[in-house]
Parts: sequence; C-alpha cells; structure tokens
Amino acid sequence: PSIKLDSRCNQMLRNMEASLTARDRVGIQDFVLLDAYMSESAFLDNLRKRFHENLIYTYIGTLLVSVNPYKELNIYNKKQMDTYMGVNFFELPPHIYALADNVFRTMLSEFNNHFILISGESGAGKTEASKKILQFYAVSCPSTKLLNNVRDRLLLSNPVLEAFGNAKTLKNDNSSRFGKYMDIQFDHQGGAVGGHILSYLLEKSRVVHQNHGERNFHIFYQLVEGGEEELLRWLGLERNCQNYSYLVQGDCAKVSSINDKSDWRTVRGALSVIHFSESDIEDLFGIIASVLHLGNIKFEADVRGYASLNNDQEMHWVSKLLGIPTQVLKQGLTHRKIEAKTEEVLSPFSVDHAVYARDALAKAIYGRTFNWLVNKINESLVNTDFSRKTVIGLLDIYGFEVFYVNSFEQFCINYCNEKLQQLFIQLTLKSEQEEYEMEGIEWEPVPFFNNKIICDLVEEKHRGMISLLDEECLRPGEATDLTFLEKLEETIGGHPHFVTHKLADIKTRKTLDRGDFRLLHYAGEVTYCVVGFLDKNNDLLYRNGKEVMRHSLVGLTEILMSKEPWYVRCIKPNDAKQPGRFDDVLVRHQVKYLGLMEHLRVRRAGFAYRRKYEIFLQRYKALCPDTWPHWKGTAAEGVRCLIQHLGYKPDEYKMGRTKIFIRHPRTLFATEDTFQV
Ligand code: ATP
Ligand code: MG
Repeated sequence: PSIKLDSRCNQMLRNMEASLTARDRVGIQDFVLLDAYMSESAFLDNLRKRFHENLIYTYIGTLLVSVNPYKELNIYNKKQMDTYMGVNFFELPPHIYALADNVFRTMLSEFNNHFILISGESGAGKTEASKKILQFYAVSCPSTKLLNNVRDRLLLSNPVLEAFGNAKTLKNDNSSRFGKYMDIQFDHQGGAVGGHILSYLLEKSRVVHQNHGERNFHIFYQLVEGGEEELLRWLGLERNCQNYSYLVQGDCAKVSSINDKSDWRTVRGALSVIHFSESDIEDLFGIIASVLHLGNIKFEADVRGYASLNNDQEMHWVSKLLGIPTQVLKQGLTHRKIEAKTEEVLSPFSVDHAVYARDALAKAIYGRTFNWLVNKINESLVNTDFSRKTVIGLLDIYGFEVFYVNSFEQFCINYCNEKLQQLFIQLTLKSEQEEYEMEGIEWEPVPFFNNKIICDLVEEKHRGMISLLDEECLRPGEATDLTFLEKLEETIGGHPHFVTHKLADIKTRKTLDRGDFRLLHYAGEVTYCVVGFLDKNNDLLYRNGKEVMRHSLVGLTEILMSKEPWYVRCIKPNDAKQPGRFDDVLVRHQVKYLGLMEHLRVRRAGFAYRRKYEIFLQRYKALCPDTWPHWKGTAAEGVRCLIQHLGYKPDEYKMGRTKIFIRHPRTLFATEDTFQV
C-alpha cells in the first residue's frame, strides 16, 4: 500500500514542481498555491498567461475560474473524461471535469446533496459549462439500459430548452433568456436515475419585441427555416422569416454562427426521445405558429378612432391553430369587457390598446407553452422509485446584464444575480469566517463587500423598491411610472446605492434623464428607464416574473442552502466574442465583482477542508489500530489519535471546537489514498 501512496504523492509533487517550473509560461494552476500576497494585477497576469496558452481553467482552491476561449478546444472528449474520472482534484491540470468528478465522488462517499453554482455575465460561458458537467455525468455514471434512457433524456432536455428559451442578443448568440436549475438524481451506486428542472424568469417580452441586432427565441426561426413542407402548410407558414413581424424587429433573422435548419432537426429528434407524442408535437408547433400569425395581425382606426382589423387571413389561422372561434378572438383583441352591476359592457379599444392586447396575448401564450414544456420534460425525468437518492443541482441563471437602455426585465435579472451573489457571500466569505470564530480558530478577518445592502434596497418589506412598485400598482388611474419614480426618491432617495435625475449630480456627478434611475449594483452601475415598470409589474402576464421575485427566488435560496456548494466562475475575455483577445479592463472588472480576490484571500489564509469530528472519525477510523473498530473516548480525542498515527504535521491542520480543519486538500487526498489501498 505504501508504495502506491508514495508513487501517488510523488506524482503529485512532480506535477506541482512541473507546474512551478513551467510557471513563467503557463502561469500557476491554483491561485492558492502562490505563497506571496497576490495583487489583483498578478491575478490578472496569471489568468492572461494561461488564457493565451489555451489553459482556460484555474482554481482558487476548489472554486473553478473559467475564461471563455471563444473557440473549440480539444479538451472535451471521452479520453479527457476518462483521464479525470476518479483522480484527485489537484493531480491533474484544472478542468471542469475535475470539479464534476470531485462533486460526484464526494456525494457518493458522504451520501449528501450538492449544487454547482455557475455564474458570470452574459456570454461568459455558464451554459456551456453546465452542459459539459452534464455530459461528464452522462458518460461517467454507471450505465444500464434503464439508466441510459434517463441519461439520454437529461441530455436532450438541453437542446429543447435552449431552442425555446435562448435567443441571440448583442452579448451572446445563444443567450439564455431564462434561469435554469436542474437537479440530477443519483442512486446509492451513482447511477443517474432521474432529474427535475425549475425555470425562472423567462423573458417573455422578447416574443413581441427585439432590440436592433437581436432575435426572437431560436425556435421560431428553426421552425420557419427547418420545418417540413407539409408541417408548414398545415401551420399556414411560409418559409421566409422576413414575412413575420415578430421575427424581424431586430433586423437580423439570419446569424452566421447559427444553423437553424440543423438545430430544427436536433430539437425535433430530441422531442421524440423525451416522450412527446406526435399529437403533443403538433399542438406545440400549432401554438408556436399561432404566435407568428398573431404578430402579423394589424389594426387600423375606424371612423370613430377605434381599432378594427384589416385582414382576416391571419385571424383565421390563429383561430384555427388555437381552436378559438374567430368571433371571440376578434372581440377579445378589439374590446375590453367591463362588468357592470347587472350586465357586461364591451368597450372598444384604440389602435394602441389593441396592439397592446395582441402582444399581451402572444406573450402569455408563449410563456405558458414554455411552462408546459418544462413540465413535460419533468414528467419524462421523474423517478417513481422511493429509495433514497442524492442530488447534484446545476444552477445556470442568466448573467448580470447592462444594455444601452435597461428596463424592468434587466431590473429583474440583475436583482436575481444580486441574490445569487448574496448567497455566495453567505455560503463562503461570511460563513467561512464566522465558522472560524465559532470554532475558536485563530484568524485574521478578510474584509469584503457585502451586497446585502443592495438586496435589501430592492426587496425590503414596505420600503423596498418592489414593495413601492406594488403599492403604486394598487392606485390604478392615479399612479404612473413617474409617480413611482417620485415615490422612490421620497423613500429611498438617501440610499447610497440609488440615484435619480434629481440626486445624480450630488451623488455621482453624472447626469441622468428625468425618467431614469440608477442602481449601484455589486457588479457595477446600471441606469434603468422607468417607462413600463408599472405596466409590466401589473400585467397579469408578468405576474409569473413578479412571483419569482417574491417566492421562487426565496425558494431557490432555500433549495441551495440545504446543499453543499461548489462554484464555477465564468469570465468573458472580450466583448467582441473573439478568440485570443483578453481585454484587461473587462476582465479586471469581472474579477473584482465576482469577489475572486476576496475568495482567494479567505481561501489562502484558511483551511480547504473541514469535517465534524464524528464524521471524520467514522470515515477514517479503520486507518488506525487504536480507533478501529470502536473508539471509546470522545470523537475529538479519537481524531487526534488518528491523525497522530497518520503523521499530520502541526501546520497542516487545526482542531476546532467541533471540527477538524485541514489546510490543504493534498493532506486529505493522501489519507484517502491510504484508505483506498
Ligand atoms: P448568457 O448569460 O447570455 O446565457 P452564458 O454565460 O450562458 O451567457 P454561453 O452561452 O455558455 O454564455 O457561452 C457563449 C458562447 O461562448 C458559446 O455559445 C460558445 O460559442 C462560447 N463558449 C463558452 N464557453 C466555451 C468553451 N468552454 N469552449 C468553447 N467555446 C465556449
Ligand atoms: Mg446561458
């Protein structure tokens, strides 16, 4: 046994030495290994060096930093997966597979739940990272025929959800326009036996409006470009995106990096595997086509100035595809029903109102279809066996974003990111330091920016921005977006993270337009245009989004708090989506707001691994004749005896009140190796 242990240790040492000698060229693979205090510039130098050598992954302890290469690297294949499978974390160069493997093995050995939080701004590589992790599990898990079915469905849920929930934006040609949390369930042997997906905050407004240079959700273009002749005929569609008003608002229906035709075939094939019957599929595309027809319905003003329909053709298709009588649909789009005491009165819409109603219907249809889709996928992933399972959760929520004009949608997205950052702080920076204190471990506190102050600004009861918005929404007829803005100024005008037109000059010396407000997010300043906030918050169709802000986000936080966290922090090297370009200013900003320096400091000064004495003793007691099979004293004494026997050096560990703290994972890996032999 000792020979094997020695050879593993030697290998590890050789790797580290090799990495140190090659350091000038390829940088260092774990920031924690650098002895000296590390400045932000040195941190950046290291990332840049590695990036130019196509080494996109670097560790900070067990946190994985990933820089988007914007090109295909030959590092994601079966051979690489085999290389990383079952090998200790620090024995091989950093890789997303190493993280995935480590999480998997920890789950199996401790039989507990985990989640991997993947964060970073739009285009940084979150979705790609989550796909790589899923692929790794698909290949590395034990397989049987039954398990293979689950595995295929888990994998194929991706192209389907991406088709319906992703779109080309200015920042990313395949930008996730919804947040996704996916649980993969494993049995006690590590077989993937089921899964569950939660979706958050689908950006429904994209169905009816896209900014210049952006597209609608991929699925529309896939259907029009790739749909079979017969299908298109049945749906009343022509093979030309230019004919559909909802597809050309951004004036870029064609994108060179996207092949809608072949993506259509992938999605179509995937739907069949995930238990969608032919009639489900017909219904699904009938509804998708109805949205395109809806978008082409135009209104003109009649002699009294009220909206009337000028073309029955599209109306006919919508009514056929949705199965709603034409008359009912027509009335719904051009009139509001007012319920008086004893009767119902129809009040005609102006043209603007009718357009609004049409768009609202299109968004609602799409939003519900998306939810139905997620539910269908979940049905196909459900595991009905009641035996105990453990899960690995993958969280890929769309990144912090700043556009030229930012609206309610960005406000929701950025708030969501703010909450995730808060979670990261609570689970790592804050809890880590509190734990040392509680355990009586000597410790030099590391200062960090706690964004709780911004979360509170948005969500606090009565005084928070969401509460104030809701209050304004309860004053129909009186309240407007501008009265909401005034209310914000009155109530939170003094807050250091909130600025408006009136306050701008005093606080930041940067001017703002009258209808704007600015939030100083943890990730940077964002100016929001208040126009549409009341409407969107009030809109029944946005209610989902609003509920997410109240309920689901809290729910998500609870789901995550009950699991052991792992992190992938994705960095975008340039704004041009180009390989080989590393923009220092851009990367430095991300390093800052992702809290990487703070994390490094806490990690460097701290202990990579800690376990309750009872658990540690239980796992390793077989390694020492004094603790095996039964230790009579306290768990702490047992652990002390055990580590003396194992020869831990004094600076490698510390004994806390209830836990043992181990400085570097390699100490533990050596113990694990002894154990396995
Ligand atoms: P969003 O928040 O907009 O959804 P994201 O962080 O999910 O952004 P991705 O869609 O994962 O970003 O990545 C954007 C693009 O960058 C990908 O379509 C791909 O072209 C490229 N990319 C990302 N990661 C990698 C990688 N590891 N290797 C090669 N290319 C990558
Ligand atoms: Mg994404």
